[in-house]
Amino acid sequence: MSDWYKLKDSEAVRQLESDVEFGLSTEEALQRLEEYGPNELIERGVKNPWRILWEQVTAIMVLILIAAAIVSLILGEPLDAAVIMIIVVLNAILGFTQENRAEQAIAALKKLAVPTVKVRRDGQIVEISSRELVPGDIMLLEVGNKVSADGRLLQSINLQIEEAALTGESHPVYKSAEELPGKDLPLGDRFNMVHMGTVVTYGRGTAIVTSTGMNTELGGIADMLQTVEREPTPLQRRLDQLGKILAVATLVIIIIVVGLGLLRGEDWRTMLLTGISMAVAAIPEGLPAVVTITLALGSRRMLKRNALIRKLPAVETLGSVTVICSDKTGTLTENRMKVTVLDVVGETFDVSTSVERASAMLIDDTERDDDERPERNLALLLRAAALCNDAILQESPNGTGELVAVGDPTEGALVLAAAQFGLNKESLDAEWPRIAEAPFTSERKRMTTIHDAGAHSNDHWPWSQAPYVAFAKGAVDSLLEVANDVWVGDRTVPMKSDMLERINNANARLAEKGQRVLGVAFRPLNNLPAATHEEEIESDLIFIGLIGMLDPPRPEVKEAVATSKLAGIRPIMITGDHPLTAQHIASELDISLNGQAITGGELSEMQPESLRQRVERVDVFARVSPEHKLNIVEALQDNRQVVAMTGDGVNDAPALKKADIGVAMGITGTDVSKEAADMVLLDDNFATIVAAIEEGRVIYDNIRKFIKYILSSNTGEILVMLIAPFLGMPLPLLPLQILWINLVTDGLPGLALAVEPAEKGTMKRPPYEPGESVLSRGAGRQIIWIGSLMGFVSLGVGFRAWLVDSDGAWQTMIFTTLTLAQMGNALAIRSNRDSLFKIGFRSNMSMLWAVLLTFVLQLAVIYVPLLQDVFNTKPLSAMELVISLVLSTIVFWAVEMEKWIVRRRISKEAKL
Ligand code: ADP
Ligand code: MG
Repeated sequence: MSDWYKLKDSEAVRQLESDVEFGLSTEEALQRLEEYGPNELIERGVKNPWRILWEQVTAIMVLILIAAAIVSLILGEPLDAAVIMIIVVLNAILGFTQENRAEQAIAALKKLAVPTVKVRRDGQIVEISSRELVPGDIMLLEVGNKVSADGRLLQSINLQIEEAALTGESHPVYKSAEELPGKDLPLGDRFNMVHMGTVVTYGRGTAIVTSTGMNTELGGIADMLQTVEREPTPLQRRLDQLGKILAVATLVIIIIVVGLGLLRGEDWRTMLLTGISMAVAAIPEGLPAVVTITLALGSRRMLKRNALIRKLPAVETLGSVTVICSDKTGTLTENRMKVTVLDVVGETFDVSTSVERASAMLIDDTERDDDERPERNLALLLRAAALCNDAILQESPNGTGELVAVGDPTEGALVLAAAQFGLNKESLDAEWPRIAEAPFTSERKRMTTIHDAGAHSNDHWPWSQAPYVAFAKGAVDSLLEVANDVWVGDRTVPMKSDMLERINNANARLAEKGQRVLGVAFRPLNNLPAATHEEEIESDLIFIGLIGMLDPPRPEVKEAVATSKLAGIRPIMITGDHPLTAQHIASELDISLNGQAITGGELSEMQPESLRQRVERVDVFARVSPEHKLNIVEALQDNRQVVAMTGDGVNDAPALKKADIGVAMGITGTDVSKEAADMVLLDDNFATIVAAIEEGRVIYDNIRKFIKYILSSNTGEILVMLIAPFLGMPLPLLPLQILWINLVTDGLPGLALAVEPAEKGTMKRPPYEPGESVLSRGAGRQIIWIGSLMGFVSLGVGFRAWLVDSDGAWQTMIFTTLTLAQMGNALAIRSNRDSLFKIGFRSNMSMLWAVLLTFVLQLAVIYVPLLQDVFNTKPLSAMELVISLVLSTIVFWAVEMEKWIVRRRISKEAKL
């Protein structure tokens, strides 16, 4: 059945055996889930394990190795050929498990990134994962939702949907619940249908799910649903480049070594194998896999700290962030609004101190005396605020019978305050049924609803003659733009300058104390506006009063702000609230110390150049609309800042995309903002951004350590091969020995470096330059000198032994010294600055085990007879082993010494 649009909505509900008010029952939904399967698009083009295996098998290194094995076989060395093939297999398995683990970590992240949907089940509104949606579900659609399945609309309140994903039409389409009987209509004209993958841009509505998963229109054409993107990170791209440079350099060196060998009359077959082995030794094949797994494991650690990474490159960019632009409400504050002050002409009412008086006060407005009018005025204020409101009151799920508000926290606070005064939202709604509305937008900063006042036409109400009444609430300045009169308790008076001053003063007085202030207004109506022109009602309003509410800063944010400042990251507050409210909170959290703020109005007037200058010093942006966020990001980026920007609404998406790190809100954020973001905060908390940045820095540090480690090892190996001929020595390392060093040293300790914990000063130093070379900050220099030291020490050990006894164990001593020197390097390189003895061997147990295991394996290669044959080693005497072991530690001590010098220089500088 695909002609749902031709049916009446009730007929669609009947055919799908559902119920508009009750929804499906839980059992029924489960049964249908069995029948239809989860609501998801089957992804094509995603890597499955076989594909990963195939990639491993066809990697360049493996091809070189297989070539080497074939050459060995042809040359009559079946044992070598066999061992090389074993190494190929081992390497493939290692690479496969690493990649597969990374894929799994990403798959797990993808699952988490699936959006949720509000549906009616068992007569309750519940939020479920969109995967659990089944045909017959009654789903609720709100601004910013991504529609999760195909459905027939049952109700549309100004619902507009952007269907570009499906029809290519980027203009939002106006939707209605009316039936479209008769002839067949193209997809774009089915105005009573909603489709998976499209986006609610305005209004709200209810729809019954008609098809899910691959049965949807999108499923019919979908290649895949991208929820977590995988693209090479900037670092991975730079590493690729580095790899290419290394390959060329290696090729040159190999030609020299092989050429020299042939000149000295070495067997050409040995030289051929040597050349191939050196290529394998020099190219850091393990790098891409280790980088990927480090990023994937890192994103898992971030998840534990409530930061969900949607795009892998973000992990790395996080470490370079210099500015965090954060929303105020909900991110810096708790988003637990509480109404504290009501202010109408003639009275300011402190809610927190006089609850008892409050409820007694508003019993029956019509029977009050004249001198009690201010209270009646208060009642109107609360009524209007509760009616122009989408939050609902529900009994708290914890079973105490306590009432809680569900919906936008600002609106929830108003509904709760009204209830405190005996005005229940549900009965208000029944008395004044809502007919139409102009929803809240961050641009207008107000919202209006239109109600049927028919039931009250005989009451002593200000609209007693009018059949309809509009209620509006919003930012005070925004309402004053459209209000001409003030309600003073029994009549309207023109909004003269004294009134205006009174309202503005009251507004400023509350805002200064950090309160979020809402104005409330009304307007009696004789006619209803046309369905698409509700906003026209927003003129000639009658101002009623102010409501002040408090939203305390999150307790952990103050510390997070201090941490980020210490780490060279500047926090900036961006809010739609009043500048005074913003400044109060900003100074309470130490975000702003200079008291400067820019408002959205000022921002619109500013030239880009002057914004660029101001943005360097101003930390608070107030009364901004989402489009201003884009200007702010651009101004900061022009100043070469790396910007993290938070956002939750549909209109925040462009700024999130533009920012270096777009951060969406997991709880209050719209699907659209999440999709545009690089990272989602599961707890909406500013402190989580700072925690994620710390993890990002640690991950980047560890990748750099691994690169230093693996490249200095390779330098050591190549130097040994390069210099030995000049000393008149025969081949210092055999092909299989090089392969062994490469496999074992790159493998285990390399992976252990990926889980190295944070260094002490991670958040006490400035951010890294974005796009800096992997070899910057002395890493390149270190690679060369550590590698050289390694090479010279090993070669020196072997050279002396060779002079004494050229038939003996000298080659095995080079082999062993080189392997062990790398273990020392791995241990010392764990910290950039602190000594290993300070951070302790046991602070990275994986490393300890990796080093011990490698040591044991090396002993096996030397002393197990079978392995001796394979690797061409000779058993070292106790003395020879001790010499190799002791001299190999030179590398460890040298690296520790370098760190000591660095520490001393830093503490000297600190004293100066
Ligand atoms: P922020 O989330 O940054 O605090 P918003 O853009 O949500 O800012 O809100 C801006 C202003 O709009 C608020 O200061 C308030 O006065 C008003 N406002 C917020 N929510 C609502 C709402 N649901 N209805 C009417 N006005 C609102
Ligand atoms: Mg808001």
